[in-house]
Amino acid sequence: MATENLSDYKDIWVFAEQRQGKLMNVALELIGEGYNLSREIGADTKVCALLIGNNIDDLAKECFEYGADKVYLVQDPLLENYTTDAYTKVITDAIHEYKPEIVLYGATHIGRDLAPRVAARVDTGLTADCTHLNVKLGSYIEYAKENTTLNTDNLDPNDPDTGLKMTRPAFGGNLMATIICPRTRPQMSTVRPGVMSKRERVEGAVGEIENVNVKLTAADIRTELIRVVRETKEMVSLTDADIICSGGRGLGGPDGFKLIKEFADKVGGVVGSSRACVDSGWIDHSHQVGQTGTTVKPTIYFACGISGAIQHLAGMQNSDIIVAINKDPEAPIFEVADYGIVGDLYKVIPEIMERWDAE
Ligand SMILES: Cc1cc2nc3c(=O)[nH]c(=O)nc-3n(C[C@H](O)[C@H](O)[C@H](O)COP(=O)(O)OP(=O)(O)OC[C@H]3O[C@@H](n4cnc5c(N)ncnc54)[C@H](O)[C@@H]3O)c2cc1C
Repeated sequence: MATENLSDYKDIWVFAEQRQGKLMNVALELIGEGYNLSREIGADTKVCALLIGNNIDDLAKECFEYGADKVYLVQDPLLENYTTDAYTKVITDAIHEYKPEIVLYGATHIGRDLAPRVAARVDTGLTADCTHLNVKLGSYIEYAKENTTLNTDNLDPNDPDTGLKMTRPAFGGNLMATIICPRTRPQMSTVRPGVMSKRERVEGAVGEIENVNVKLTAADIRTELIRVVRETKEMVSLTDADIICSGGRGLGGPDGFKLIKEFADKVGGVVGSSRACVDSGWIDHSHQVGQTGTTVKPTIYFACGISGAIQHLAGMQNSDIIVAINKDPEAPIFEVADYGIVGDLYKVIPEIMERWDAE
């Protein structure tokens, strides 16, 4: 059933995912993106963080400092740990009560579990894994012309429409698709961590807090959380890394990652990988950069022996500086690289390491 009156819906909500009292980075990135969108929609559009948990009042301050105008605070002992049923219910109730125009979720395990279920409950659409969002047609056309092959010929840049244009890779990353949700509200999307930018933190910033009335009983939750088991293997934090040294099939085998690790240690970076190496069992999936791995945006991204397949580029092309090392001068990675070094990575990397300290 379509939403009856679209104009009843206003403001941009971000599901401010927290785990064990710590906000996920993607939530802060989405608050930043929400701010950009709100400025395009109009001055009275607020960016609101939807903060759910128990004893998490402190986190509201962080949301304000990163740009939220308002925090909807949903607290209850039954929300201490994430459960699909409880979170779905409280978000669905809140959407019905407050009617946000847009709701953004991080494409984390939790966001991907939650958002489709909420979409089904409130009977609206959801675009998963967006890499770009626009509201004004003018800015969308500009973006689409520069970054995609999407046809914008029939669009009028002065059209006042401010519906959300949600762009994401489609068909295995071979083309981009822009999806709209014209008949129902809220417009919802999940966005991968690392794709959008946080705003500069403003210490001491304040905003409005709305304590949301929770109508939840234990009977609403069909699962029982017995224990939380933390992963003990070493996890790489690709999304937060400033420098990433990634290896591809050009390494020739798993031992090549010893050189990449040495390189990363030398330059103060972390180890990334193409999917080819992950599929070959040379390195764990947690290192994979790309469409089906992690999206990254470091200051420097070293691509060593990586050809530059579109699915890899989808995860790293927004890096500030891309340095490609490849022995094939025609490798597509050179098209996105700021610095390209044609040569054998086993010769080039030791040279860079040698000079790193000297520079
Ligand atoms: C649905 C889907 C999702 C995908 N998701 C991802 C993803 O998330 N991430 C991802 O990376 N891929 C992904 N892929 C796979 C992607 O299409 C490519 O197959 C993969 O990225 C190739 O990895 P590569 O560049 O390491 O290997 P290759 O394409 O084989 O390239 C190896 C490169 O190394 C160079 N080389 C060889 N030896 C040396 C040397 N000694 N010194 C320097 N250079 C050398 C070669 O010239 C070549 O350019 C996906 C594919 C599909 C279909």
